Amino acid sequence: EVPPPMRITGIATGEIQIPLARPFKTALRTVERVEDIVVRVTAENGMVGYGEAPPTAVITGDTKGSVLSAIHQHIAPAITSMDILCLDEVIERMAGSIKGNTSAKAAVDMALYDLWAKVMGKPLYQLLGGYRDTIETDLTISVNPVPQMVADSLAAVQDGYRVLKVKVGKEGMADIPRIAAIREAVGPDIRIRVDANQGWTVKDAIRVITAMEDKGLGIQLVEQPVPAHDLEGMAKITQKVYTPILADESVFSPLDALEIIRRGAADLINIKLMKTGGIHEALKICAVASLYGVECMMGCMLESKLAVSAAAHLCAAKGIVTRADLDGPSLCSIDPYEGGPEYSGALIQMNELPGIGITGVPCNFS
Ligand code: MG
Repeated sequence: EVPPPMRITGIATGEIQIPLARPFKTALRTVERVEDIVVRVTAENGMVGYGEAPPTAVITGDTKGSVLSAIHQHIAPAITSMDILCLDEVIERMAGSIKGNTSAKAAVDMALYDLWAKVMGKPLYQLLGGYRDTIETDLTISVNPVPQMVADSLAAVQDGYRVLKVKVGKEGMADIPRIAAIREAVGPDIRIRVDANQGWTVKDAIRVITAMEDKGLGIQLVEQPVPAHDLEGMAKITQKVYTPILADESVFSPLDALEIIRRGAADLINIKLMKTGGIHEALKICAVASLYGVECMMGCMLESKLAVSAAAHLCAAKGIVTRADLDGPSLCSIDPYEGGPEYSGALIQMNELPGIGITGVPCNFS
């Protein structure tokens, strides 16, 4: 017997603001607080699903105004009264309702997956594949004067982090002593990832990465050394150095991932829900990457626990996602939500709560 339909009756948005524990600095920007849009999708039986999106204009082009307008003017009218049990159809309708706008789509997509899994009565990660139930995340070390970065790295290790993601890319060759100082301070057992956020030239990248290799700094991977569009440059770097290169800003969609893989323009891919437009498209990247045996990292923007937990569910579901950069909640000064996976230092523990698991969201929805 086919289950009766479960109609979507409402899509509302709210805003959440959470001060960061300390400013977040990359080669592109400095941020002091999370200021995100929260989405609530309601079904006819009263069940709700939650999603969240940070309007990260410098990376995705999405602003608060564009996210709200995409959701209220385009997405909501397209999917209201559809059956949440026909999840693929709902998401395809959403995708067709407006081009681009990946952050708005990601927020609604994760709310839809949350609601769908709650109706199914299962944690989302189990429905998507259930590969693991514990995730170890790295912690981001912001770009700062070297002594500050060393102190931040030591504090992270003290807090139990065994993987650091160090932001560089502002100074080319001067990034080498920066990483060397951190490696000397934390010792050989801590894994170090380096994220240049598009900040190097191709020549810089090859020089810096080769020098780090020659110095034996033991870098696990280098993320997005050159501008997103320069796939030729990415490929050149990937061929010239031994250190694995991870594509972040170069890969938004599943087609981007396929292009990167076929050109040999990276060794690894960073999946973020705000780039793909949600879990539905992210699953396609996982499928493409699995076909080629290209391991993925699950990342996040400056998102709070709601959106990061959606990413954690996907990360837990798929074996091809072998690395996690899901430190958004750790960077926030408070956790305003109830429920969800449990975050304790570097470890994210999945649990039996249905859907994404967030049960309390302190927002005024309208
Ligand atoms: Mg990155």
